[in-house]
Amino acid sequence: MDTQIILGILWQMRQFRQRDHWTRQQLEAHQADALRSLREYTYAHSPFYRRFHQGLVDAPLHELPVLTKAMLMEHFDDLVTDRAIRLEEVKTHMRDLTGDERYLDRYWVNATSGSSGHPGLFLFNRTEWITVLASFVRAREWAGVKFNLTSRVKTATVASTTPFHMSTRVNATAHSWWMPEIRLAASEPKDSIVERLNAWQPEMLIAYASMMRILADEQLAGRLHIRPRAVFTSSEVLTQETRRLVVHTWGERLFNQYAATESGSLAAECNHHRGMHLMEDLVIFEVVDQDNRPVPPGVYGDKLLITVLGSRTQPLIRYELSDSVRLSPSPCPSGHPFALVDDIQGRVEDVLSFPSGAGGVVNVHPLVFSRIMDTLPVSGWQVVQEVDGLHVLLSSTRDKFDDEMLADTLQQALAEQGAIVPRVEVQHVASIPQTAAGKAPLIKSNLQTHIL
Ligand SMILES: [Zn+2]
Repeated sequence: MDTQIILGILWQMRQFRQRDHWTRQQLEAHQADALRSLREYTYAHSPFYRRFHQGLVDAPLHELPVLTKAMLMEHFDDLVTDRAIRLEEVKTHMRDLTGDERYLDRYWVNATSGSSGHPGLFLFNRTEWITVLASFVRAREWAGVKFNLTSRVKTATVASTTPFHMSTRVNATAHSWWMPEIRLAASEPKDSIVERLNAWQPEMLIAYASMMRILADEQLAGRLHIRPRAVFTSSEVLTQETRRLVVHTWGERLFNQYAATESGSLAAECNHHRGMHLMEDLVIFEVVDQDNRPVPPGVYGDKLLITVLGSRTQPLIRYELSDSVRLSPSPCPSGHPFALVDDIQGRVEDVLSFPSGAGGVVNVHPLVFSRIMDTLPVSGWQVVQEVDGLHVLLSSTRDKFDDEMLADTLQQALAEQGAIVPRVEVQHVASIPQTAAGKAPLIKSNLQTHIL
């Protein structure tokens, strides 16, 4: 364990607590200052950004070009601000990771799971890594789980245990002093997860939404017996029905959070449960449509652009995340200056495209499916688009079930969207297949090309 990191987090948390009481003007002044420093540093140290923003060095943020993950990876060695960093070496380092090692003795390397193409690699120096760690601590504090060195909270995390995923890396640094924690792989057999949770009796439980739904079912069935003070979901779309089920099982103590490998925790729910507060003192967020035009509160964006104010090793300025986010038009009673996100509809990749009856293509929003699928007496579901139509997977069906009626209902909903109605096949499975990271996406397409 590293005393400097602990002290860094404590100091950072003190700052964070003060910022909860900022006015909106104070927040915006802080953003403007932090953005200025970020850009000065970036132009001084990143050859890539000097070209990318050529002639725009003094332009306002919204006029700058958008950076995609593909561009970031393509220009990696030129984009980072330390000329000693080499992408090929970073990849090797990442493959050999087992614990809390640092690349070049100073960078923590994190990678995305790469479910949508190639993995992205993100490096953090000590200061940046402390901010990442503190952002997760802050998400817990907003949920009422206070951080200090004397009261330790027994935690269980059911997620990916891949060494280069962020939650594993955060744990590798924080292990032993931050909180006593067990980590279970979401890919473990369900019975073994239940048994280990029963033995550990966590006060705090963290899992993907799909796993939380399974665990709530296990608790209701009398096999799981835990009484967590706080329950956190992250990384996957949390549907209304999963929220209802978890609240019914453990009470009003479910907190959703939204994090990204690019910067740590981005948004988290407070105890008013009105949505998730964006950590706007750390990141400037722009909710935009396909053409990068701003989208007002109350409307789902197609993408989210983030500018990570503290990024220095690998500056992220107007970096594109493909999450469809909706800002809340109404404020939260907590009085935080931070904007609220009242819903996230997953990634643009979750939008399925169908040939339209009127010619062309209709894009069907995940909500069209979740409204129907969420009401079913099952512990999990997945809609998969294949060449021969839709395959609907249902796991642990509880009651007698009419497959044909479900197929009809889905076909009718698609017809209402203007799609040429596809074949729908319902399959009952023991469990929903997981990705390498242990996630179970609700919607996916196995078609070669994705039309948008
Ligand atoms: Zn709030």
